[in-house]
Amino acid sequence: MCLPLACAIALYARAIVMTKLTAHFRCFRGCAETFPLTRAIYRCPTCDGLLEVSHDLDALRETSGPTWRARFDARWAPHAEDLPLPSGVWSKREWVAPEIPSDAIVSTGEGMTPLYPARRLAAEASFGELYVKQCGTTHTGSFKDLGMTVLVSVVNQAMREGTLRVRAIACASTGDTSAALAAYGAASGLPVVVFLPRGMISVAQLVQPLANGARVLALDTDFDGCMRVVRELASRGLIYLANSMNPLRIEGQKTVAIEISQQLGWEPPDWVVLPSGNLGNAAALYAGFSMAKSLGVIDRLPRLCIAQAANANPMYRAFIAHTDVVEPVVAKPTQASAIRIGAPVSAPRAMAALHAMNGVVEEANENELADASARADKTGLYTCPHTGVALACAMKLRARGVIGPRDRVVVISTASGLKFTEFKLGYHEHKLPDVTSTLANEPVTLPADVETVAHHLA
Ligand SMILES: *Cc1c(COP(=O)(O)O)cnc(C)c1O
Ligand SMILES: [Zn+2]
Repeated sequence: MCLPLACAIALYARAIVMTKLTAHFRCFRGCAETFPLTRAIYRCPTCDGLLEVSHDLDALRETSGPTWRARFDARWAPHAEDLPLPSGVWSKREWVAPEIPSDAIVSTGEGMTPLYPARRLAAEASFGELYVKQCGTTHTGSFKDLGMTVLVSVVNQAMREGTLRVRAIACASTGDTSAALAAYGAASGLPVVVFLPRGMISVAQLVQPLANGARVLALDTDFDGCMRVVRELASRGLIYLANSMNPLRIEGQKTVAIEISQQLGWEPPDWVVLPSGNLGNAAALYAGFSMAKSLGVIDRLPRLCIAQAANANPMYRAFIAHTDVVEPVVAKPTQASAIRIGAPVSAPRAMAALHAMNGVVEEANENELADASARADKTGLYTCPHTGVALACAMKLRARGVIGPRDRVVVISTASGLKFTEFKLGYHEHKLPDVTSTLANEPVTLPADVETVAHHLA
């Protein structure tokens, strides 16, 4: 029998004792089985489809949208609450990996990156509002830190519990994934092996994992060839896979969407433009925006532009052909080396994101990406070539009127320009293939003589 007082107490207790938040792996295509996040599993055993992290949304809904917003705003602060460091990822921890205890977190203070209002560039290129989300302003210089803190923390926790035995964490990489994995691996003391396409990444990207003590294997192939090798090693249980096929990466990366909304006063932009290769980050952005919407934190989704290099454009080709099937291509050389990928692993996830976000796919050739990058630099940015791809695509969409004159646009800058000195120098020295360098700026050599210098400046 339920006495009124007991009922009231039970209701009250329910209101203050929140349901425990949980998350697990689930098949992206909807097969029934679920798996703990601490299990080394990368594909659905029933249908071989990709996996995703599934959260208990009903439990999360016990907290209202406005309460989440207030909580996240309070955590955007210099003090670290119970975290090792203030972190854009772990300040959203209930939405990311709710069961990881604070002392298992491996963090470098990732996220909370600037949303830079690019006013001069916006005026020049006729955007209503243009922001650049500076994801490269972070420990290893790219957005890959956001996913890697989650993956390494989960592995760290699982190894402490004894539920997972891992000889090494490994990834195939176009340069930035390996830099991030090597750093977080070194910070936690876990062994790391990285597989790189020989001669296809920047010097800075090669030096990063070497400095962090990772085993660096340079294979005589491209990224797609490295990916084939590392997948096979993972399926034999020899390594734990840290590529974005592993949905733990996506959970960290999705916080970019939440941060952008937060930095705009919980008002999502009209457009998000994202340079994409393996397409994991496109899936992550959608995961972040859609979770924020379904938990009442934002009221609509922005439109998505997936921006590809014309020399590595399988998603663009599918979009133009009006098909959901992304056929692999052999990716050709591009200055945007981190997105030189012909067989994107997350293509099905990205296709779902594209449909849900009323998205488009655009491409930029070498000349367009290099000029867009140089143009942005002339207004005070210092852009990597991938950000150049996104900016070039945004400008093309604006010129065609797909992006409207008053739209608020966020371009995701995926890495720091400081990692791509060869690209910058090559541009300004007129040495990049297929690039005319119309904005090149070369140093002037003069004798150390005041009169000569004064004459030059006059
Ligand atoms: C990894 C990376 C990308 C592409 O992200 P995907 O998830 O592979 O699409 C873009 N830019 C930079 C700088 C990267 O390192
Ligand atoms: Zn399945």
